[in-house]
Amino acid sequence: MDSVHDDNQVTLQANLADADAVPAQCRRVTPSDPCAIIIFGASGDLTARKILPALYKLYCNNSLPRSFVILGAARSMLTREAFIDKMKEALTGAADPDMERWKTFAESLYYHQIDYTDEESYAALAATLKGLDRKHGTGGNRLLYLAVPPFLYQTIVTAAGRAGLSHEPDCRSCWSRIIVEKPFGSNLETSRSLDNSLHEWFTENQIYRIDHYLAKETVQNILVFRFANAIFEPVWNRQFIEYVDICASETLGVEHRAGYYEQAGVLRDMFQNHMMQLLALIAMEPPARFESEMVRDEKAKLFKSLRSVAMKNLDDHLVLAQYGVGSINGKKVPGYRSEPGVDPQSFTPTYACMKLFIDNWRWEGVPFYLTSGKRLAQKTTRIEVQFKEVPHAVFQNVFTEGINANRLTFSIQPEEKIALTFQAKNPVSASCLRSINMEFSYEGDKDHMFEAYEKVLLDCMNGDQMLFLRQDSEELCWEFLTPLIEDCETCINREKTLKTYGAGTPGPLEAERLKARL
Ligand code: NDP
Repeated sequence: MDSVHDDNQVTLQANLADADAVPAQCRRVTPSDPCAIIIFGASGDLTARKILPALYKLYCNNSLPRSFVILGAARSMLTREAFIDKMKEALTGAADPDMERWKTFAESLYYHQIDYTDEESYAALAATLKGLDRKHGTGGNRLLYLAVPPFLYQTIVTAAGRAGLSHEPDCRSCWSRIIVEKPFGSNLETSRSLDNSLHEWFTENQIYRIDHYLAKETVQNILVFRFANAIFEPVWNRQFIEYVDICASETLGVEHRAGYYEQAGVLRDMFQNHMMQLLALIAMEPPARFESEMVRDEKAKLFKSLRSVAMKNLDDHLVLAQYGVGSINGKKVPGYRSEPGVDPQSFTPTYACMKLFIDNWRWEGVPFYLTSGKRLAQKTTRIEVQFKEVPHAVFQNVFTEGINANRLTFSIQPEEKIALTFQAKNPVSASCLRSINMEFSYEGDKDHMFEAYEKVLLDCMNGDQMLFLRQDSEELCWEFLTPLIEDCETCINREKTLKTYGAGTPGPLEAERLKARL
């Protein structure tokens, strides 16, 4: 471990620059089972920007199984060559700048044009897969990836099931798994309906509901930090913690996704999944062992303890807002209602700040603030755990200023670090304190870290569901949020309840007021 000092900061950096420094038993396991990866929606944005680059990087790091096939499926009429060219274009500047390994990787890349609503189309896909199994030795294992707009999920699941793609042959290491992208339904009812369709063909242990936030290194580190150190857990409760603040802010606006975002809004887009998962990791009880089902049991227990928000006091718990015109990095940007594809009278919230409570022994009375928004001043995702002030002001007659309480910050992006602030005497003055930041950063390790989508794909190939959402948690989160979403969408006073904030600002003042009312 290297340490760097400056006046007010101690930085600790794990020295993993040499990959050999990682013991063999700690390295991520390269999947041993051969498999075919079938991407529905292969002509789309997610495939080009995330899925294919992740697969190629895994390939370049020798982390894909020895035998694999990637079969892109979509409506677009593309030849195999055109698909390969499109994927190559998307990769420019990625894992392997000289693209030395692209040629051999592309030998496993195929394309199958499909009509999502036509069952014969899936029968043809299944036949193609059988041929590829024989050619590449992929053994009949299937990883289906739903990278299509959500309204197509059920259609594809049912048709793929009927074509036998969910079937797990009767052998120990034969499998079929399905990755479902967010959003997983749009309310409690639709998420249940999607689950019903999935469960007609897939068992829960074949279903991988993605929240790629969970695959970020600092997010995974929350549990290690809490449960592999003896000194933090004893103070991790209502006696020592004043409040917890979870924030995920973006400087980007709605970009080209207005069609989706107009329907979703910030509560579905960020809260139902990412924010709730971060909340679970910071607040859940320790599992008996670090095993997928045990961790997911504890998360579900936490979600069961969420106090429902009393709708008549909604203003005390929720601020919703939409961005207006403003400037980001000195550049003028339009308000949400003037973005391409957005209804000029839209009431879709692009920002929410929520105050919630967890009704259990550990957290009774501790407010948790969850904030997320687009076009804010800063791009950052972080969790701040604010400790209480010292119980007695021993130094009141010595130091002129007040004493800041300790704060622990988990920065998730763009920086990946953990920082603890504490007080020390300022050596150059007789009666002053200064806040010291003790930091642990992953900065030096970035080249060796797996990106979120790489980890998600790898874990799915390895059959590890730890990072994926389980049906019960998914439903509990919808149960908590659906009344709030329905209220915000049907409220007759929407004009009044939906606040505005200038693009490039920290958000509406009402959120500050909500947080000030401790
Ligand atoms: P796209 O809008 O790019 O659509 C993916 C593909 O689906 C398209 O290439 C198209 O392929 C097909 N498609 C699109 N619209 C229709 C339609 N109306 N009818 C039939 N087929 C259609 O989606 P993304 O790639 O952006 O996203 C895929 C999924 O991943 C979505 O559920 C999204 O919410 C989720 N997601 C996306 C992220 C992103 O960064 N893009 C991030 C996180 C989640 P073709 O016409 O060739 O069949």
